[in-house]
Amino acid sequence: MSARFRVPAPVNEPVLSYAPGTQERDELKAALRRISSQDADIPVIIGGEEIRTGKTHAIHAPHDHELSLGVWHEAGAEEARRAIANTLEARRDWASWPWEDRAAVFLKAAELLSTTWRSTLNAATMLGQSKTAFQSEIDAACEIIDFYRFGAHFADQIFSQQPVSDKGIWNRIEYRPLEGFVYAVSPFNFTAIGANLAGTPAMVGCGVLWKPSKHAVLSGYCTYKLLEEAGLPPGVINFVPGNPVEVTNVAMAHPDFAGLHFTGSTGVFQSLWTTVGKNIARYRSYPRLVGETGGKDFIVAHPSADRAALRTAIVRGSFEYQGQKCSAASRAYIPQSVWRDIRDDLVEETNGLSMGDPADFRNFVNAVIDRGAFDSITGYIDRAAASTDAEVIAGGEYSDRDGFFIRPTIVHAKNPDHETMCDEIFGPVMSIHVYPDNAWSETLDMVDATSPYALTGAVFSQDRAAVREAFERLRNAAGNFYINDKPTGAVVGQQPFGGARASGTNDKAGSQFNVIRWLSPRTIKETFSPPTNVEYPFMAAE
Ligand code: NAD
Repeated sequence: MSARFRVPAPVNEPVLSYAPGTQERDELKAALRRISSQDADIPVIIGGEEIRTGKTHAIHAPHDHELSLGVWHEAGAEEARRAIANTLEARRDWASWPWEDRAAVFLKAAELLSTTWRSTLNAATMLGQSKTAFQSEIDAACEIIDFYRFGAHFADQIFSQQPVSDKGIWNRIEYRPLEGFVYAVSPFNFTAIGANLAGTPAMVGCGVLWKPSKHAVLSGYCTYKLLEEAGLPPGVINFVPGNPVEVTNVAMAHPDFAGLHFTGSTGVFQSLWTTVGKNIARYRSYPRLVGETGGKDFIVAHPSADRAALRTAIVRGSFEYQGQKCSAASRAYIPQSVWRDIRDDLVEETNGLSMGDPADFRNFVNAVIDRGAFDSITGYIDRAAASTDAEVIAGGEYSDRDGFFIRPTIVHAKNPDHETMCDEIFGPVMSIHVYPDNAWSETLDMVDATSPYALTGAVFSQDRAAVREAFERLRNAAGNFYINDKPTGAVVGQQPFGGARASGTNDKAGSQFNVIRWLSPRTIKETFSPPTNVEYPFMAAE
């Protein structure tokens, strides 16, 4: 080769509006009709072969128990073993591909998603995970496109980082994909997370075993088919929707297990880490463990806060996608003077949010993901309603008759340690504590100490000194810190995402920091005139 190629400079994918009369709206509605009426029969995919194990699970839309979207076939230990063997085989050839060919596969996938695949992935996400058109667009379309375009750019930048060379020597670093396979385990709430957990290690040459969430198999399958159409060779990513414990036990006991790329709850990540610890002597390499997990994300307002901006941030930050974003605001600390000004409007705006089927574009919120989530979230609401420490001041109603619907709910927590101020509820519940105006500094300390998590957080203040103080005191309370903005909606390349403490390893999805975790550098020193004499000059006779 006589050229060093550079991947195209990435630009964030524009978010389409889906306003009435637009072409994208018509295309999306057609895709919704198509996916609603087809009976998907989603296989396990190993080496490009579609395997139907016969152990099937029905896919129902969370917002409509009557709407069956098809079935998916469950992988067990046997399929996991086959998939790992196949991935290791496929990786050998894939890792030897020139970087630009691997990058081109993912850049093409981004282009296809930007055009012909956009409505399909959005519709699958809307129906299978109960998202509005807008929430799907920023996830299943724009964020995946951004992960792939920016990911290729970040990898390119990493590859160009080379050591200095002394006289007569040429030092180089080769960025090898991890030896073995990467195990990608993705959550239900973002289609883009599955695409990134599996796609980013694959882009830099790793082989990947991808186990999607049982609630995101439909959109995960579409993501796989998109990559296949873009030219991803069979086996580089094997798609194994399956029994999480069986697949994980096989993957993590395997000597070639080289890395875990996980997003999900803190408890599951901790259990996987424990398993890795127990198995550590079995592995050929020390596995890379990357996990982004739970959050108890905060908004803290200063008496100088802009009232309208704060109110809007609370409503959007807490209730979009039913609060099922790891970054969703779920506790707020508001001074009495501000609370007097915004309380009634906040309650009215929250109670006015439209809720229902995502195929009806007038709805702002849809259903929560499943029965387990519904029971857990409504349990918090019921306990708050019955508690003398808390009061439900907006929402609080729920029904599982047609789908798993919970009204956006605001709890006024008189006790700052009430469970709704501390636990990750992962639903449309915002818990607010009102503090005396003169207790700003103490309140910041409370924000810092109340939760084990440290994912996202926001400060609202027009007073720069107060912003400064929050910035300092909350340094370790959030991996993504927002000033006068809601704590959700991180954009790849702009706000690299991740938190520390119990929220994860903070390897920042959508950044160079994440990409480098899937690479194992080899340093090469070449000497042009090697020494030919063992003795050093200082040893010579005087
Ligand atoms: P989850 O932990 O229930 O599931 C995540 C994945 O782990 C799924 O693929 C699931 O099948 C698998 N899993 C579950 N139990 C397992 C076990 N015992 N062994 C092996 N694998 C197992 O999480 P979820 O409900 O899908 O997603 C919501 C959670 O994810 C929330 O806690 C949320 O905060 C977190 N999340 C974090 C981020 C982030 O970037 N920090 C992003 C999205 C979601």
